[in-house]
Amino acid sequence: MGRAFVYVILGGGVSAGYAALEFARRGGYSRGELCIISEEAVAPYERPALSKGYLLPEGAARLPGFHTCVGANDELLTPKWYKEQGIELILGTKIISADVRRKALVTAAGETISYKTLIIATGARALKLEEFGIQGSDAENICYLRNIHDADKLVNAMKSCSGGNAVVIGGGYIGMECAAALVTNKIRVTMVFPEKHCMARLFTPRIAEYYENYYTLKGVTFVKGTVLTSFEKDATGKVTAVILKDGKRLRADMVVVGIGIRANTSLFEGQLVVSMVNDGIKVNGQMQTSESSVYAVGDVAAFPIKLFDGDVRRLEHVDSARRTARHAVSAILEPAKTRDINYLPFFYSRVFTLSWQFYGDNVGEVVHFGEFTNSSPRFGAYWVNKGRITGAFLEGGSREEYEAISVAVGRKAKVTDMAELGKQGLAFAIQESQKQMSETGLAIGEKPTYVWHATAAVVAAVSIAAVGYWYGRKRRRW
Ligand SMILES: Cc1cc2nc3c(=O)[nH]c(=O)nc-3n(C[C@H](O)[C@H](O)[C@H](O)COP(=O)(O)OP(=O)(O)OC[C@H]3O[C@@H](n4cnc5c(N)ncnc54)[C@H](O)[C@@H]3O)c2cc1C
Repeated sequence: MGRAFVYVILGGGVSAGYAALEFARRGGYSRGELCIISEEAVAPYERPALSKGYLLPEGAARLPGFHTCVGANDELLTPKWYKEQGIELILGTKIISADVRRKALVTAAGETISYKTLIIATGARALKLEEFGIQGSDAENICYLRNIHDADKLVNAMKSCSGGNAVVIGGGYIGMECAAALVTNKIRVTMVFPEKHCMARLFTPRIAEYYENYYTLKGVTFVKGTVLTSFEKDATGKVTAVILKDGKRLRADMVVVGIGIRANTSLFEGQLVVSMVNDGIKVNGQMQTSESSVYAVGDVAAFPIKLFDGDVRRLEHVDSARRTARHAVSAILEPAKTRDINYLPFFYSRVFTLSWQFYGDNVGEVVHFGEFTNSSPRFGAYWVNKGRITGAFLEGGSREEYEAISVAVGRKAKVTDMAELGKQGLAFAIQESQKQMSETGLAIGEKPTYVWHATAAVVAAVSIAAVGYWYGRKRRRW
């Protein structure tokens, strides 16, 4: 017994929602031909809200308010929307095996679901401490954060910990955003990570120092250059302290673990080509895998970035999930009209009242600029490789300024004098943006593709921030 669809989207996260909207807009299917299969019990939602608006102490974001695609200022796709569009939502259903030659998936309940075209949108999972040899991270006051179920556990742990102590393991964006949320919920936070500074994969020491000082002023303590080795627990199994490799013992009423993610590729191992470099399912510029009827999008996909000379990358960012999902649907429905994806990597975060964006790649020599002040921070960095801008970071920018740095990265702006670049700072990017306008003859509102990427990315970042903002103040319901 089983069911058959023309199109199956496997996974019900960010990219699934954006793929569904693209299918609906293009009208490329008939009722009952398209389904989304998701292990999660709810329709696709904007995952970044889980570490932001969802954790607010008052008026927190809740579904249905942040289903996709509100993060890109687009339609809110509630379960009713899927029904109206004739898209079947197969929720709470885990796929346990896949056979790409037979074009069939098998659910945990034993049902076979077959397809003509498959979009793999299985995203990634949070790495567990057990994978690093540390046992006991299933305690009720130890939290990971990848899905809404995890977020509910975290909210409950925070509620029973007000005025208490939390230890955050990991100094990446999950750790940083959760630490900020914990402080906002009146919980004392100690962050522990092995690197020399926070956000080590992206931040320069100088940028990291700014955020660490800011967090310290908010009461956060940093313990760097060491790792967790074990937990102390009470008779009920709750953690009471964490023990570090350097011998320190930190009292803990709760623990949040953010130590990275791994792409959910295992169903397709040995069947599809996997990118060796970054463990994603390798796709071409049409998001098509080594099997022509199978596409992969979002966190699970490793795709060629034109801007990086076709280098294959697996990105773990929401904007990439949205864009690759739309691109795959376009390639499936209109292959002849769909060019290879031309994506400008973009990532953002928002903590306390701070907000930053990053475009491109952080390789090369770094030049910092701007005001690293607490009162009105507006600073950033350019990465310059072989005389060209490869990446740019900006904290506290305006929409135009974020757009300008994205243009400077997108056109690989030429740099002749590093010291001068530092002096010019944002003015350099703004000039590049103006040059672009005059070269292309485009007025504002008629932008080349990658500038649209940047603009939309800015909108996305702003609107995700808005989810928290609006919910925080209950000014508007989504
Ligand atoms: C808390 C949090 C905050 C974030 N904040 C930011 C941010 O500020 N900025 C940013 O750029 N990015 C952020 N991200 C990253 C962003 O959310 C991801 O890049 C994005 O969700 C990826 O979308 P996806 O569709 O590829 O995967 P996901 O959204 O993870 O969706 C994957 C889906 O597949 C399902 N699935 C997996 N395996 C199976 C299976 N075998 N059977 C059935 N279903 C399956 C999962 O249950 C899930 O529904 C954040 C992520 C998290 C977790």
